[in-house]
Amino acid sequence: MSISHEKKMDLLVSLCKRRGFVYPDSEIYGGFANAWDFGPYGIELKNNIRDEWWMRFVKMRDDVVGIDTPIIQHPKVWEASGHLQNFSDPLVECKKCHRRFRADHLLEAKQAEPGYDKEKPIQLSDIRCPNCAGEFTDVMNFNLMLKTFIGVKEDSASVAYLRPETAAGMFTTWMNVRDTMRKKPPFGIAQVGRVFRNEITPGNFIFRLREFEQMEIEYFVHPDDAPRAFEMWLEEYKSWCTDVLKLKSDNVVYHEIDEVDRAFYSKRSIDPEYRFPFGLKELGGLANRTDWDLSRQQELSGEDLSWFDADSGTRYTPFVIEPTWGLTRSVLAVLSEHLDIDEADTAETGEKEPRMVLRFPPRLSPIKAAIFPLTKKEGMPELAKKLAADLRVQGITVEYDESGSIGKRYRRQDEIGTPWCFTIDGETMTSGTVTVRYRDSMSQERLPLADVVHFVQNHIQRNSVL
Ligand SMILES: [Zn+2]
Repeated sequence: MSISHEKKMDLLVSLCKRRGFVYPDSEIYGGFANAWDFGPYGIELKNNIRDEWWMRFVKMRDDVVGIDTPIIQHPKVWEASGHLQNFSDPLVECKKCHRRFRADHLLEAKQAEPGYDKEKPIQLSDIRCPNCAGEFTDVMNFNLMLKTFIGVKEDSASVAYLRPETAAGMFTTWMNVRDTMRKKPPFGIAQVGRVFRNEITPGNFIFRLREFEQMEIEYFVHPDDAPRAFEMWLEEYKSWCTDVLKLKSDNVVYHEIDEVDRAFYSKRSIDPEYRFPFGLKELGGLANRTDWDLSRQQELSGEDLSWFDADSGTRYTPFVIEPTWGLTRSVLAVLSEHLDIDEADTAETGEKEPRMVLRFPPRLSPIKAAIFPLTKKEGMPELAKKLAADLRVQGITVEYDESGSIGKRYRRQDEIGTPWCFTIDGETMTSGTVTVRYRDSMSQERLPLADVVHFVQNHIQRNSVL
C-alpha cells in the first residue's frame, strides 16, 4: 500500500516514539530543539547498520584498516583542513523577531513555490521572514564548528573544536598507520564516529542534526590510480545501498557534482542521494580529494607525509578517494524505505484492518525472533522461556511476550520489524513442533522446536542477504 510522503513522515515519527526507536530528547524539560534520543530498538538498528558496514569494509577487506580518533583534536588540524576559515553557512537574521535562517534554504524554498518564474531570479531582498514577515539583515557567514575550551582558562589559547567530520583523524594518523601496519597504497583507513555541526536550521526529524554519526574511509592511492579507485568505491557504495540496506534503486540517485559546484581541490564528486519523504537529500558523499588534505596537514605540521614507493623508486603524495556514509541518515533511510502499511485479519472478527509493518532486512532488524507461549499455562511459558534463552546464547536478539492475544503480539512485532515469531502451543507438548509466523507474508507453518535456533541462524547468514 502506498503512503503519501507527508503522511509517511508523521507516521514514522510517531511510530519511532511509540515503539522505542527514537524519542524527543530531554522531554521532561519540554524537549530540546533538534535533539533526539535513540531508544532500545533504535540503538540496535543503528548498531546493526554500523556493524554491517565495519564487517564489509574493514574486517572483510585486506586493504582497509580501522582507527578511532578523538572528537577534540589539535586545533591546527582544522586550520589545515580549511574548516576554521571556510566551514560556514550563509546566514540572515530577521530584523524584527531576530530568528536566523540559512539564506540558501530560503532561496530554495522560494524557488520551490508553485508559480515561481524561473526567468526572474529571486533576490534575498524579495523574501520576508517566514515567522513574522519582517525584513532580513545582509548575509553573514556563520562558522558551523562547535567551539569549546580546554583546561581551566577560557581564553583564546585554550580554544578547541568538536570535530565537524571524521576525515581529519585519518589524515593525522596516516603516517603512524602506514608505518606500523606495513600497508602501502592503495589502502584505506576507516573510522565511525560522532561529529558536530552548529546547524542554523536543523530539522526533518533525525536528518539534519547538530550531532550525528558518520562512517568514513580515506583511501590512499597513487595519483594515476585515483580514477580506478573512485569507480571501485562507487560500485561498493551502490552495492551497500542495494544489497545491505535494501534501498530500491529508484530511491537512490548518484548525483555527479559539476566542476563549478565542487570544492576547488576535488577532481570528481558524487553525492549519493536518497528519496526521503521530504525530498531527495544527501545520504553521504564520494570524492576524489586529490593530495590536498595530506599536503595541507604536511604544510602546517612540518612532517613529511609523502610516500616512498620502494618498488618503483618514486616518491609521491597520495591522492585520497573519500567515500562517506551518514550513519544517522542511513537509519532514517532504512526506516523510511521499509515502513509499509498493508491489511491483516483482525483476530476477533476476521475483518481486515490496516497493519503497520517495518520490512527490515533481517540482519538489520533490532529483534530477530519473538517467542510466545499461546497461553500462560500447561508448561508453555517454561518451554518458551527456554527457547528464548537458547537463542540469546547464540547472540540472537529475542523478545519473549506472553501478554495479550496472539494477534496483538504479532502486530507489535510487525511494528518493530521482527522477521519471525515462534509460538509454543498445545501441539508443541505432544508433537514437539512450534508455529513460525513470517512478518512479510503473515503466513505460518510448523517446524520442530529443536530446529528453531538453526532456522534463525540460517536465515540471518550474511550470504543469504548479500
Ligand atoms: Zn521575523
